[in-house]
Amino acid sequence: MVTFKKYSPPDKGEAITLADGKLEVPDNPIIPFIEGDGIGPDIMSTARRVLDAAVKTTYGNKRSIVWFEIFAGSKALKRFEELIPEDTFEAIRHFHVALKGPLSTPVGKGFRSLNVTTRQTLDLYACVRPVRYIPGVPSPVKHPEKVDMVIFRENTEDVYAGIEWPQGSKEALRVIEVIGDELNVKIPEDSGIGIKPISIRRTKRLMRKAMEYALIHKRRSVTIVHKGNIMKYTEGAFRNWAYEVAKEEYGHRTITAKQLAEEYDGKQPEDKILVNDKIADDMFRFVLMRPEECDVLVMPNLNGDYLSDACNAQVGGIGVAPSANISDTMGLFEAAHGSAPKYAGQNKVNPSALILSGTMMLEHIGWDEAAGCVTSAIGKAISQKKVTYDLARQMEGAEELSTSGFGDEVIKNMS
Ligand code: NAP
Repeated sequence: MVTFKKYSPPDKGEAITLADGKLEVPDNPIIPFIEGDGIGPDIMSTARRVLDAAVKTTYGNKRSIVWFEIFAGSKALKRFEELIPEDTFEAIRHFHVALKGPLSTPVGKGFRSLNVTTRQTLDLYACVRPVRYIPGVPSPVKHPEKVDMVIFRENTEDVYAGIEWPQGSKEALRVIEVIGDELNVKIPEDSGIGIKPISIRRTKRLMRKAMEYALIHKRRSVTIVHKGNIMKYTEGAFRNWAYEVAKEEYGHRTITAKQLAEEYDGKQPEDKILVNDKIADDMFRFVLMRPEECDVLVMPNLNGDYLSDACNAQVGGIGVAPSANISDTMGLFEAAHGSAPKYAGQNKVNPSALILSGTMMLEHIGWDEAAGCVTSAIGKAISQKKVTYDLARQMEGAEELSTSGFGDEVIKNMS
């Protein structure tokens, strides 16, 4: 049994365990959650209430989630005088699945992002972001119903590795000197320095996750999104290594664009997934103009950060954008948005992104029926135009609800 230094896990419920790489989920799993900063408390209390109601509606008294609060960010600082106690990592490792509210990060100074630290410490290497249209959600594009893609964003390296030094620091000056002396490359002395590592192992394991997802969910294509024309040995290499995985490990189930044209006369066989690639800037155009051709997208960290927000804008924006951080043994589910501090404590923002991240969590533990119950109830509330401010301001005749009021409405729509 795991022992925590600062936390007391609930005395009810059982831990999810792992056997032969598969989760074994009891009927009353203990699931840790981090409330989060800013709007975190508002959306987390509503999301947990909605998820509990869906589990109860679907399984009656047979199943229930036993929530276990763990801490990070301002609440952790207040209680334990540290931003993220080791117990938080230990709890996620031990219980395998957790739900997380957004955590604030200062810009350009102060501490490093707790979100990035968590993903790196736990090696949650795949950030999975489904982007799908919920009918009724206001959209800036003509055919949002054509959008149904899943982004696999690398979560542990690239410029997010946190290897950087401020302009004028002795480290930055030393790097500039070494690169100048030993590699004969001149960098202006008044530069700040950041390093962008992209490795074979981390690229390949991400591509495997994307391929497995595409096969299980019978998707039609996997597109590698990169800026390899400019950053040849990082993003270009990412592209090449991803193709290697497709060819060497999934060759019997995949075809390339070249094979499609030359060997299949442009007609994709039902049992083969098309693996192709696109330069990142062109991908921004492509997702807007030909979204129906975008399916599973796999990319380095920074591309994924930008592209997922842009894709989400087509289907209602960040308030309805879920996300999961996955490793081979753990899943940490969180909204794609941040802590929106200007709305903190106002019971105003949209809880859907966190609720939908919770449905990804339910699917992850195999409780698909409860996940379906939540998504259908959210769809019903939105189609009745009972929504939070972010959607109300784009919809004619909508009734604007608070965060908790929207949660109540979703629960009312469960059956
Ligand atoms: P943000 O918190 O995502 O908020 C940006 C804007 O998005 C908000 O002003 C609001 O737009 C809209 N928005 C966000 N959440 C919403 C919701 N639930 N419902 C409706 N609208 C929502 O981004 P930010 O202001 O750049 O970042 C704030 C803090 O969050 C920073 O400290 C950042 O580091 C952190 N952050 C954390 C995570 C994470 O925990 N994973 C992710 C991203 C950012 P309007 O102003 O138009 O209403």
